[in-house]
Amino acid sequence: MTESACPHGQCDGSGFVYNEQTYSAAACKCEIERRTRRRLCQALPPGRYREVARDRNPLVQLSPAILGLLDAWLGDLPGHLARGAGLWLEGRGRHGKRSAAALLVKEAVQSGRSAEFWDARSMIARAKNFEQDPQLLLDRLIAVDLLALVDLGFDNPTGWVREQLHILMDQRYVKLRSVIVTTEHSAAELEAQLGPAIVDRIGRICGDPLLVA
Ligand SMILES: [Zn+2]
Repeated sequence: MTESACPHGQCDGSGFVYNEQTYSAAACKCEIERRTRRRLCQALPPGRYREVARDRNPLVQLSPAILGLLDAWLGDLPGHLARGAGLWLEGRGRHGKRSAAALLVKEAVQSGRSAEFWDARSMIARAKNFEQDPQLLLDRLIAVDLLALVDLGFDNPTGWVREQLHILMDQRYVKLRSVIVTTEHSAAELEAQLGPAIVDRIGRICGDPLLVA
């Protein structure tokens, strides 16, 4: 079997199946899988978060309450996204908060939805340099079906940083789009760093922070 051969034996390796009756070509299962892998690479950073799975560490070690919520999301992702539901996971230390966010992003992409996973500081750094126009990235992050913003927290954020985060969270709230936030900081600490408006929008989307310990 050559490298380009179809793993499902349904196409000639081109990724398309030609229908002789209708003279049309449709994407093969292998092509759809290739597209999903490409979209996953755009949605999740390289490395461990792309390999995340519900039945592996660190997720299996999360508390039953958090796992129950995660399973509710996985059991009805379209419903959660349609309602613009959110999750706000708070806790100091490494307990699998980011992996939980990554799993939902992965699940969303694999079910054909748009989703992105961003470390909060990387997102701001990237926005500053995004093709000379921060708005381009911001617009994209406002539009995706699911946004995971992990490790939220800034030491002395500039007014510009606060403004971008406010626009992002406010627009996602208004447009009923799902957000998953993870942070090591309490709501009061985030309020001191970012101001009350941003924390208010996160709370409106996600409800109260859930302690992950
Ligand atoms: Zn194929």
